[in-house]
Amino acid sequence: MLCLETKTEKETIAIGKLIAQYSFPGAVILLDGDLGAGKTTLTGGIALGLGVEEKVMSPTFNILRCYFHARIPLYHIDAYRLEEGTNRDIGLEEFIEGDGICVIEWPKMIEEWLPMFYLSIQIQHEEGTKRRMTINCQDTRFLPLLNALKEEFLCTESF
Ligand code: ADP
Ligand code: MG
Repeated sequence: MLCLETKTEKETIAIGKLIAQYSFPGAVILLDGDLGAGKTTLTGGIALGLGVEEKVMSPTFNILRCYFHARIPLYHIDAYRLEEGTNRDIGLEEFIEGDGICVIEWPKMIEEWLPMFYLSIQIQHEEGTKRRMTINCQDTRFLPLLNALKEEFLCTESF
């Protein structure tokens, strides 16, 4: 487990860009954290790093947004509204571990479709613009990313 802190939105975006640089087709990135923690902001950084020119908006009302004009397609899922009892059978599985990078906000809402291999990032709002990120790597293909994060940001590691 890797922990790091960002002090500004810009820093969170920089982390997103680095994640993009080390991502690959089929990558799944789970983002946990309360509303306003910075999940969509981080996704925006990932999009920038993939060469997406549109601004990434929270897909809460759409559930899924696809960005095809990118180095690798980016699928951004916000599962916040997919609570039990709603019609959840909308074909999201196709985008998870597909040909692109899939970033999922509120992954607990779609637990049954989550793959075995993923990178998970928990974002905690500390105070002001301070955010604490806890990164849990369940996909060895992301190990180069962890090394890059350790090189470029001040991280603490726990096992
Ligand atoms: P979420 O998707 O988790 O609900 P958003 O990314 O939509 O959160 O919103 C995060 C808000 O917090 C944005 O308005 C952003 O500008 C602000 N913010 C302030 N500091 C940070 C930081 N260090 N990292 C990310 N966002 C930050
Ligand atoms: Mg969001």
